Amino acid sequence: MKACVMKDVKTFEVRDIPLPTLKDDEILLKVNACSICGSDPTMSQNPAYIGRVFGHEVCGEVADPNKSKFKKGDRIIMGTSAARGCPGVRRDGGYAEYVAVEAAHMLPMPDCIGDQAGCLIEPLAIGYGTALAAGIKPGARILITGCGIIASITALWARYMGASYVAMTEINKAKIDRAKSVNTPAEFFDAHAPNVLEKLMEASGGGFDACIDCPGSKETIALCIEAAKPSGTIVEIAIHYEPVSINYLKLVMKQLNFKGFYGSMPYFEDVIRIIAEEKPFDPAALITKEIGIHEIPEAITELTAPGSDILKIVIRP
Ligand SMILES: [Zn+2]
Repeated sequence: MKACVMKDVKTFEVRDIPLPTLKDDEILLKVNACSICGSDPTMSQNPAYIGRVFGHEVCGEVADPNKSKFKKGDRIIMGTSAARGCPGVRRDGGYAEYVAVEAAHMLPMPDCIGDQAGCLIEPLAIGYGTALAAGIKPGARILITGCGIIASITALWARYMGASYVAMTEINKAKIDRAKSVNTPAEFFDAHAPNVLEKLMEASGGGFDACIDCPGSKETIALCIEAAKPSGTIVEIAIHYEPVSINYLKLVMKQLNFKGFYGSMPYFEDVIRIIAEEKPFDPAALITKEIGIHEIPEAITELTAPGSDILKIVIRP
């Protein structure tokens, strides 16, 4: 089968590799759609992943049910936290025609969720969990720093949970235009404008109930600490391997609730149900483009290029 393999640090190559062999509790999934996660280029900086097939945002159909309760052709959304490691992270994933997955962690995909929306359930679940972590109540005013896919998804969920106002800050003008083009429900601010904090304080009527920091940079954390209301909440979701300095005194004096959030699996079922039954928004509208397996190496370069306005790339093997 065709697969895209991490050949070296930050280098990918499309190869013909054997079909995965199945353990007793695994099924063979034919990949219908797999989205490229923002964490994939980050992972590719780590030599430990050389030889790995990435791709953990996958939906597909059962090609071989093996000993499971599934039938051939059943449509499935791939769960991520399998006991033996998430496919696409700790073992081979969905940048391929087929992937071996543990049957116990697979969720049935309702017919009304298409393949494009189906492969976005994982990032949708991250955004949903992030919005829950922010404790968004009806009428809340929310600041989201950054304008990428998780930020945009979190804005959609913030509105779903009743936020009356969402502001987003971003340094890349092209990303703001992209987020606007997919109707991200927020007011956008240039993070480099000299008086951005003043503008945010005015727009929020004196500060935000919760600030969700997606880039996790010194600057964005500082902005969140300034823009949050006293006793407000700041949620950090960026993954950094180096310490980042913060204004500790202000955090203490404002008695802010400063918390981290990570994970998606606990929210899969709620997200699938809401998207299928309530249809609050169309996840597929977030997709910037669809590509084949042979285009993955180029797409990853494009995704990480400075000034890139790509929100989400979906692979259709
Ligand atoms: Zn991901």
